[in-house]
Amino acid sequence: MNLEKLVRKNIWSLKPYSSARDEFKGEAEVYLDANENPFNTGLNRYPDPYQWKVKDKLSKLKNISVKNILLGNGSDEVIDLLYRTFCNPGIDNVMICPPTYGMYEVSANINDVLVKKVNLTSDFQLDIKAILNATDDKTKLIFICSPNNPTANSINKNDVLTLIEKFKGIIVVDEAYIDFSKEQSFLQYLEKYPNLVIMQTLSKAWGLAAIRLGILFAHHDIIQIINKVKPPYNVNELTQKAAMEALSNVQQKEQWVNEILQERKNMEHQLSEINCVKQIYPSNANFILVKVTDAKAIYNYLVEQKIIVRDRSSVTLCENSLRITVGTKCENEKLIKALKSYSKK
Ligand SMILES: *Cc1c(COP(=O)(O)O)cnc(C)c1O
Repeated sequence: MNLEKLVRKNIWSLKPYSSARDEFKGEAEVYLDANENPFNTGLNRYPDPYQWKVKDKLSKLKNISVKNILLGNGSDEVIDLLYRTFCNPGIDNVMICPPTYGMYEVSANINDVLVKKVNLTSDFQLDIKAILNATDDKTKLIFICSPNNPTANSINKNDVLTLIEKFKGIIVVDEAYIDFSKEQSFLQYLEKYPNLVIMQTLSKAWGLAAIRLGILFAHHDIIQIINKVKPPYNVNELTQKAAMEALSNVQQKEQWVNEILQERKNMEHQLSEINCVKQIYPSNANFILVKVTDAKAIYNYLVEQKIIVRDRSSVTLCENSLRITVGTKCENEKLIKALKSYSKK
């Protein structure tokens, strides 16, 4: 991989902002360097711009060096940072494989980056040949979501590895749902492939969607360049504190995941016995994609029952499909009951 060729010229040569916290590191008695309010509110000091404590926890949990980690204000910011680092607006392009997560395209549009699309196959897998054919020397990123949103399946490992080996740009593997998957994370390939970057988040399994913490794992050279682009204090102190607390209690996360997986299995069984459900796609995530008789009518009926699911009918390859998040036992029972009563109408 030729990183200098991939990164935007202005970013490669960028002299980054140097904050007070960058210029003096270590412990002192008196801090008069950042124009902060000296009176202690618990939040009067700027947060650590590199979030070392959070990264240290993640490093131990994931067995990845802190040098290979970047944190963002949700995966949303991480996606945006990838565009701003690699893609020249109006010139470069990226590849996505619909149906997939909507933010890749929205963020591309915000950054005036052309989006090339090669649909997933009918079994929601990558069309490797078509993808490689459609990329050109202006294609900087290929986004692969695994397990994929909204289809819930994992992408075949060997297909992803083939792309990583054949594509000259960056392969972004979004693992927002990896904790719910029986497949292994791509983190094990990080050292071998400098053009592989992996996104994870605290928004799903860790139960912290509200704090906005997205994680990027990548080669140290890539992390250093994106560090120049990110706002100096992009992850606030409250978020860093909440993340530290959650990451110190892995057991809680695992208990939630186990319960959600048990409930997913229950739901799959129950859904299979409901008349208006035509197909249940296999899930490696905390949601289930189901094909139904009439998605719009069922969606509206559920709304009347005060139950909200996601109608994905308008999405490529998801005709008449609803995406249903696995909730608590009680919530799932309400959904099943409502679907049964719809079927009897
Ligand atoms: C939910 C989700 C995320 C998480 O985004 P955050 O900004 O970290 O909350 C990322 N990718 C996919 C595919 C998702 O479905």
